[in-house]
Amino acid sequence: MTDSILKLCGHLFMNALRFGYFRQTGKAGKPQALSLEVTHRCIAKCIMCNIWKIPEHVEDMSLKRWVAFLSSDLFSELIELDITGGEPFLRKDLADLIGEICRLKKENFTKLKSIAITTNGLLTGRVLEASKSILENLRPANLDLVMVCAMDAVGPIHDRVRCYPDAWKRVHETISGLKNLRDQYPNLIIGLKTTVLPINVNELEAISSYANENGLFTIISPCIITPARYLNPDRSEDLAFDGKMKRAMIDFFRSDAFRWSFHAEALARYLETGIMKKPCTCGFNYLFVRSTGEMLLCPLMGQSPGNIHDDSVTTLFHGQKARRIRRRIGKSPECLSCTEPGLERYALPYQGLHYLFILVKQGRKDFLNLHRHMGLNKYFESG
Ligand code: SF4
Ligand code: SF4
Repeated sequence: MTDSILKLCGHLFMNALRFGYFRQTGKAGKPQALSLEVTHRCIAKCIMCNIWKIPEHVEDMSLKRWVAFLSSDLFSELIELDITGGEPFLRKDLADLIGEICRLKKENFTKLKSIAITTNGLLTGRVLEASKSILENLRPANLDLVMVCAMDAVGPIHDRVRCYPDAWKRVHETISGLKNLRDQYPNLIIGLKTTVLPINVNELEAISSYANENGLFTIISPCIITPARYLNPDRSEDLAFDGKMKRAMIDFFRSDAFRWSFHAEALARYLETGIMKKPCTCGFNYLFVRSTGEMLLCPLMGQSPGNIHDDSVTTLFHGQKARRIRRRIGKSPECLSCTEPGLERYALPYQGLHYLFILVKQGRKDFLNLHRHMGLNKYFESG
């Protein structure tokens, strides 16, 4: 074993000890990853999501309020920042918000490596114009922009999922435009996010090929039913998978395309057994803030430590209520069927033990490929 892998093992072991202590006490360090739902507004009306039904009069937090929130010293260890919605590009001040984040990087977010924005890609002109302006700001700040475009099929089934005419054509145009930007800005990384539903189970191979042809990463995962983030328990019956659909997904997730994905294997096992087993450190090194200011330690569990309008983020994050919620992380009924695709990325380095186990099981070479493919090296770099 080389020095670097030994160092990584030592790091993971120390992280495992620290996480064990936090787990017992309900305490936490500082967040390394943060998701901001900058708006609940959306022009799509997707069949698996009810965010768009939140009434117009429910106000999104102002730019000034987001900046005040982000200025907290609690975020000095932040490595990844995730901007989501609704449709984030409906905010005309989105590029200004990112500009403020770049300014804060100098003193507050000194460890920040990347900003990810999830978009439905329907507002092609606006997305491309704002992305260019954002990339101009990110380049001198040495930050990557990760653009995640929602795509549920290559063709008209996508329009049916998004309940929006020409949705496929528009997202395809957005991706083409982003690829042009990528030629000018190497710090732009583009990916697809696919929500697997009964209607598109047979579209996954085509999505995977489209991603390969266009140099895009993929996040492909079954839809999640939750009264919290997606407000969609009313959709549970319509969106249930039968045995044949589950088998198709298992075969897909076990195909070569997912050789370097931790999530795909966890999903395949879940689809076989009905029980999800994966590490989760939500609320320990991650938190989610809704457009109303409500803080969630896990976006899928309903319990909130409070609203950032009422208390400081540090008080909420370290308070008794947050500690009580933290003790339930990974152990709640929601966790047994949790197919959330992104959060285990944050968990693997922080929880430590599971990642060490993967290293032992896969061997050094395969493990390092997985490590780089998931972009987790940024959690072990100094500065
Ligand atoms: S899934 Fe995204 S794009 Fe679709 S309605 Fe919900 S917020 Fe809008
Ligand atoms: S495993 Fe549980 S706590 Fe973690 S993201 Fe899923 S529902 Fe939330």
